[in-house]
Amino acid sequence: MKRIYMDHSATTPVAPEVLQAMLPYLSDKFGNASSLHSFGLEAKEALEESREKVAKLLAASSEEIIFTSGGTESDNLALKGIARRNKDKGKHIITTNVEHPAILETCRKLEKEGFAVTYLPVTSEGLVDLAVLEAAIRPDTILISVMHANNEIGTIQPLEEIGRLAAERDIYLHTDAVQSVGKIPTDVNALGVDLLSLSAHKLYGPKGVGALYIRRGTKLESIVQGGGHERGLRSGTENVAGIVGLAKAAELCCEGMAVEGQRLTKLRDQLASLVLGKVKEAWINGTMKGRLPGSLNFGFKYVEGESLLLFLDSKGIAVSTGSACSSHKLQPSHVLLSLGLQPEECHGSLRITMGRSNTTEEVDYVAECIVEAVERFRGISALGRK
Ligand SMILES: *Cc1c(COP(=O)(O)O)cnc(C)c1O
Repeated sequence: MKRIYMDHSATTPVAPEVLQAMLPYLSDKFGNASSLHSFGLEAKEALEESREKVAKLLAASSEEIIFTSGGTESDNLALKGIARRNKDKGKHIITTNVEHPAILETCRKLEKEGFAVTYLPVTSEGLVDLAVLEAAIRPDTILISVMHANNEIGTIQPLEEIGRLAAERDIYLHTDAVQSVGKIPTDVNALGVDLLSLSAHKLYGPKGVGALYIRRGTKLESIVQGGGHERGLRSGTENVAGIVGLAKAAELCCEGMAVEGQRLTKLRDQLASLVLGKVKEAWINGTMKGRLPGSLNFGFKYVEGESLLLFLDSKGIAVSTGSACSSHKLQPSHVLLSLGLQPEECHGSLRITMGRSNTTEEVDYVAECIVEAVERFRGISALGRK
């Protein structure tokens, strides 16, 4: 059976060009970037070239990029690093209640350390209300962290406006841009962010590597102590092959973003109209106006997302219910609840995130299978017969 992968927000396959770029650094070019001999220099050069490529994708300078082990670590470094280093200026942090657990759990940890955190609600469209954000700012607010695009529903936050609010008040602004980098423009100056997290495996790079953009002059403390790598902000021998892979992936995204974005937007809208045209009491979670190109989150009444997922899997189609990281939990998604959905409405959700491999024929087939699945499960569900 042909398999169709539509779960790109969980992870993406490594692009063939990325794998090719990495291979030498897993064999002959194995040097430690801190060594002074030719093996070390070779690794060091690869590291610095990679830094430039990643910086280019963000319109940043290479000195502003720190390599990490991924999105989770970048988020931890940004939040703990800023909070602990700037606690004399204030101990208040603002974030939203639709963030990834890498942000939410880090905030809970900081609360235990004595920081106060405001978790902003979002509108039924999934967006931060700027007036609500502005009202939450206090004299002791040192950091605002708002994700760029949401991993469950794909909605894009008004970061530019938030950036202006933060800059006027000299408050650091961090964004978890793990889902947006490589898919939509992420120019750090246009967005007005001081820190930005990204992860390679969400943009056709390898797992276990990512980066944190840190605007020049931003003061933060490291969370990993050791040999002082990455300007003392992230000790540990660099994952050279992984970093080279991240850079190649960034380069490919830079080149193909506009064309691929348009293509995925068409596929997304095709799938939404095919499914919503045939299934009653179904909707899209989050606004359709500003969302990631390949990303849709359907809501269906009277069915369990889990049943739909398993049925689709039996047809060779890989999708997800909430986010991959929280799908082992039985509680409804915190993101969907934040939109104001009832718990039973959250349970009938299906996240479909398309990427490079997907085609319009696949979209037709997936739409057919979704319609079939919903009809079948509604037919055997007591609620569905009401
Ligand atoms: C995947 C993801 C992360 C975590 O990144 P890892 O590299 O898997 O640690 C953080 N934030 C968002 C929004 C994500 O989608």
